[in-house]
Amino acid sequence: QPAPVPITTARKLVLLGESAVGKSSIVLQFVKKQFDEWRESTIGAAFLTQTVPVKSGNFIWDTAGQERYKSLAPMYYRSAHAAVVAFDITSSASFEKARSWIAELQRQADPGIVIVLAGNKLDLVSQRQVSTADAEQFAREEGLLYFEVSAKTAEGIEEMFQTVAEKMPIEP
Ligand code: GDP
Repeated sequence: QPAPVPITTARKLVLLGESAVGKSSIVLQFVKKQFDEWRESTIGAAFLTQTVPVKSGNFIWDTAGQERYKSLAPMYYRSAHAAVVAFDITSSASFEKARSWIAELQRQADPGIVIVLAGNKLDLVSQRQVSTADAEQFAREEGLLYFEVSAKTAEGIEEMFQTVAEKMPIEP
């Protein structure tokens, strides 16, 4: 008798945010426990999709598009169960961009979508432009969870995805 194949129900997660905030690095850290300072950036990538099995295991992710393909984003987040909207704590502009992504999700995405705000590059705290208080206040007003993470040191990454997975709706 062959061993039974475990059934994992995939949940779709989309990472949104200005390019260079660290979306690919966050995924790389989570999936492979690696960080590559000099890795070529996913130039202009505005969003990434990842299929997350509920009971860990294999993760599949890919570059979903570039900034200039931003009009394609709805195609990705409409079917997503969760969205991680990332910004770089050393860039106010990236925080503004995150706010606009969240507004767009609230208008256009499935009302049941789990939205998480992620302030990345926590290791660069000395160059911080977005305070924890400001990000927390915004998250509270919008009813979102807020995590501060570093794709470089891995701080907060596991906890963030764990929370996202727990909050994702389970379908039959
Ligand atoms: P993306 O365009 O949003 O996917 O961003 P990338 O993952 O390509 O990262 C952009 C740049 O920021 C790269 O040079 C990364 O090495 C760097 N980076 C990403 N995350 C961190 C972090 O947590 N800390 C630091 N110091 N650099 C980071």
